Amino acid sequence: MSLILFNDLTRKKEAFVPIQEGQVRFYSCGPTVYDYFHIGNARPFIVFDVLRRWLEHEGYKVTFVQNFTDIDDKMIHRAHKENITVKELAERFIAEYNKDADALGIRRPDVAPRATEHIPEIIKTIEKIIANGHAYVSEGDVYFDIKSWPRYGSLCKQNLEDLEEGARIEPGEKKKDPLDFALWKAEKPGEPSWESPWGKGRPGWHIECSAMSSKYLGENIDIHSGGVDLMFPHHENEAAQSEAASNSGKPFVNYWLHNGFLLIDNEKMSKSLGNFLTARAAIEKFPPLALRFFMLSAHYRSPVNFTPEGLEQAAAGVARLRNCRSDLNFAAQTRKNNNSEFDLQKFLSELDELDKKFSASMNDDFNTAAAMGILFDVVHLINTTLKENEKLPEGFFQASKDALESYDKILGVIGPEESASDNSEVSEIESLIAERTAARKSKNFARSDEIRNILKARGIILEDTPQGTKWKKELV
Ligand code: AMP
Ligand code: ZN
Repeated sequence: MSLILFNDLTRKKEAFVPIQEGQVRFYSCGPTVYDYFHIGNARPFIVFDVLRRWLEHEGYKVTFVQNFTDIDDKMIHRAHKENITVKELAERFIAEYNKDADALGIRRPDVAPRATEHIPEIIKTIEKIIANGHAYVSEGDVYFDIKSWPRYGSLCKQNLEDLEEGARIEPGEKKKDPLDFALWKAEKPGEPSWESPWGKGRPGWHIECSAMSSKYLGENIDIHSGGVDLMFPHHENEAAQSEAASNSGKPFVNYWLHNGFLLIDNEKMSKSLGNFLTARAAIEKFPPLALRFFMLSAHYRSPVNFTPEGLEQAAAGVARLRNCRSDLNFAAQTRKNNNSEFDLQKFLSELDELDKKFSASMNDDFNTAAAMGILFDVVHLINTTLKENEKLPEGFFQASKDALESYDKILGVIGPEESASDNSEVSEIESLIAERTAARKSKNFARSDEIRNILKARGIILEDTPQGTKWKKELV
């Protein structure tokens, strides 16, 4: 089965057909870097990172672009408050974004363009829109002319009359129609500004994504994503601007995808409501893998309510996955036997069946929640096989390890193996365990307890089994 995606443009599930065979041009709206990002913002960063990985797994060459909004009102206010420049503020929070995103296992985009580094491209895009008759200059501002764009409202599925009802012309705005939006804003005292054909000023918010998307991905792209709050006005405006600039008749975007909100006490988590938990604070309290697990346990379009208990459950889920892998590694050292009577073919075909189900879930509108369920079926199959068979062949261990590894490459919820993280640490742990086993044999329980405690202080948990002592690292 090939990939089917729910396209917000048509409000239907559609087969995904890329513009160019084997390639995907994918743009995702990134953070405004005026502060740490919260776990609501983390939702699109995590889920669309997984969609990118899934597309790659399916054999596509994906070009993934995610911008940094580094100039807007929020940036200017915060920089004033901190008594630093907007550029200094952006540098600081881009670095903080990268730190948290890396900790959350979010792969860096192929291109992470910043608005302020694309002012010439933004100006060119605005010039094209003016030349094509869809924008006008008004006292140093430039506005998109909504009335000149009959398709306006086609993404958010609202007609102009309904949209006009909620719109106002704010004091200081020099536009003709309340729905017209700024492409360029004339300079105000104390604000950063750039030279332009319309005088000094700065870009509006929406135009940066149109300009940077077309620079790196072309005028017609495959996928554009973001949170559902971006559908209107941000994405509606991006589509109008991009299509008005190119004037090619081609749509700006073929598939629009929007994630649902992360809620807290059934309300949208947001900076303005003050009901947020930063990703930084969440990572200090919970393992980052648990946060990914939590996000991927829901369908990306559904709203999901955040609770500490939900994250604790996710942490327990991660621990179950990691335990399965460490049990498997331990058994591979102690119970491998190619002469066992184990029916390897049957096991491999069961794994294969589950793999088909996993792919079917991911291809069914990127249903990570169902795919995670299949991953647990795989874990259950491995665990029961380990329990029911004293000796197991090489093929069982290899296939199980490969399966877990390949699912983790897509979902990133199991994480690196302890033994891969630091070999010298592993050999030190193993020699302490060997010493403890010898101490127990010679009934030196004081030393044996001491070693257990030394390891516990380092986050290493021991479990004595008939086959020997197993160890694992507590999740941090
Ligand atoms: P911002 O930095 O505010 O532009 O937001 C970055 C991304 O986070 C955008 O795609 C937003 O739509 C998304 N977003 C913001 N709040 C939430 C939330 N509570 N749940 C899910 N996504 C959100
Ligand atoms: Zn955008």
